[in-house]
Amino acid sequence: MKTVRVKDKDFSLYMSEATIVERVKEVASKIDADYRDSKPLFLVVLNGSFVFAADLLRNIDFPCEISFIKMSSYQGTSSTGKVKQLLGLNESIEGRTVIIVEDIIDTGYTMQELVNLLNEKNPEQVVITALFVKPNNIKVPLNIDYKCFEIENDFIVGYGLDYDGYGRNLSDIYKVVE
Ligand code: 5GP
Ligand code: MG
Repeated sequence: MKTVRVKDKDFSLYMSEATIVERVKEVASKIDADYRDSKPLFLVVLNGSFVFAADLLRNIDFPCEISFIKMSSYQGTSSTGKVKQLLGLNESIEGRTVIIVEDIIDTGYTMQELVNLLNEKNPEQVVITALFVKPNNIKVPLNIDYKCFEIENDFIVGYGLDYDGYGRNLSDIYKVVE
C-alpha cells in the first residue's frame, strides 16, 4: 500500500485521482442539467476546495460566474463569543442562485454558518455541493444537494485538502495511519 509522510504523520492511499475525477464529472453533469438556465454564481470555499473546483467547473458547460470566499472566525467582544465572518464576497447575491463548492463537510457547523451568512443577503436559493461528507459526524441538519463521496470519520489529505498546511498538492487522497 502506497504511503506518504506529511509533516509528522504517515498517510496511506485512500482514493485515486482517477476515481475522484470520474465521480466529479458525473456530479458536474447533474449540476449542468439542473442549473443550466439559472446563471448561477459558484462560490468556491478556500482553501481546500481549489482542486475540486478546478475539476468540477471545467465540466460545467453553461454561462456562470465563479467567485472565491473564505470563512474566518475570531473571538467577538460580545457575550455571544465566536463570530464567523465571510471574506471576499464582493458580488451582490440578492435574487441569485448561489452554488457553494466545498471540499469536505464534517460536523457541518462551517457549512451551516456559511449558509446562514449567505441567506442574510437574500439570494434566490443556496445550493450545496461537497466533495466529501462524513455522515456519521454531522451534528446539524443540512440539505446537501450534491455530494461526491460519503466517507468514514478518517482524517484525509490531498487533492486540495491539507494537514496543517501541507499535503494539498498530492494528486490522490490519503488517509491518516492511526
Ligand atoms: P465542519 O465544520 O464540517 O466540522 O468542518 C469542515 C472543515 O473541517 C472542512 O472545511 C475542513 O477544513 C476541515 N476538515 C474536516 N475533516 C477533514 C479531513 O478529513 N481532512 C482535512 N484535511 N480537513 C478536514
Ligand atoms: Mg473547507
